[in-house]
Amino acid sequence: MERPPRGMIGVFGGTFDPIHYGHLRAALDVHQALALSELRFLPLNVAVHREQPRASAAQRRAMVEAAIGGEPGFRVDDRELARAGRSYSVDTLTSLRRELGDKRPICLLVGGDAFNGFFDWHRPRAILELAHLVVMQRPGAAIQHDARLRIEVERRRATCRDELERAAAGRIWFESVTQLDISSTGIRHMLALGRSPRYLLPDAVIAIARDRGCYTAQPAPGWRDDSRTPRRHISGKS
Ligand code: ATP
Repeated sequence: MERPPRGMIGVFGGTFDPIHYGHLRAALDVHQALALSELRFLPLNVAVHREQPRASAAQRRAMVEAAIGGEPGFRVDDRELARAGRSYSVDTLTSLRRELGDKRPICLLVGGDAFNGFFDWHRPRAILELAHLVVMQRPGAAIQHDARLRIEVERRRATCRDELERAAAGRIWFESVTQLDISSTGIRHMLALGRSPRYLLPDAVIAIARDRGCYTAQPAPGWRDDSRTPRRHISGKS
């Protein structure tokens, strides 16, 4: 069988406000399990079904870039940030299709919580004509298929990777990812309380959030910032 040009591509959209290890580890799990040739992180511009992000587009982009830097196969795609108005997945995938052509499989990564509401998204059937869905099980979010979703899952569920590779779009794949009960909301909450979010997200992301005042105008008293690097010992030579 002829292989599709340059392999399967993953597309991971999110608010990333801020990006954390729950996103990053799940993305790496999918990247490796499906042997994707590339995985793109797409920070959204204007959210559709939720409150708007606290950090600016430029700040969230910088945090994503810092988080994925150095991981081969990961890259930032800022087409949603560059597009005015609401960030609809169907528009993003249409634009990616124009770039990648009709044949290359596109895998749209979604958390289980997001997948439960898939039929409330804008033009869900058009999305399935443009991409496969890769559903990542998220801690605390049981997959609750409503009747429509159940029918689609029965029709479209792929049970081996080849089924995804053979079609450009239209299949649904469930991937069990490392369960990390981390959310951006929880991290923002910690920062607002002056607690350190360290070990929930990369130090480089914490540093950007701190330096650019993304979530607090100033670090609250009591947030001991151990994420600054490099640290100099007082006794060392400068
Ligand atoms: P918030 O708490 O602000 O709602 P979030 O942590 O859910 O943010 P988003 O940027 O909204 O992060 O999520 C983007 C995508 O990543 C969604 O599909 C979401 O389900 C998924 N996701 C987020 N956190 C995790 C996690 N810990 N494990 C697996 N998937 C996750």
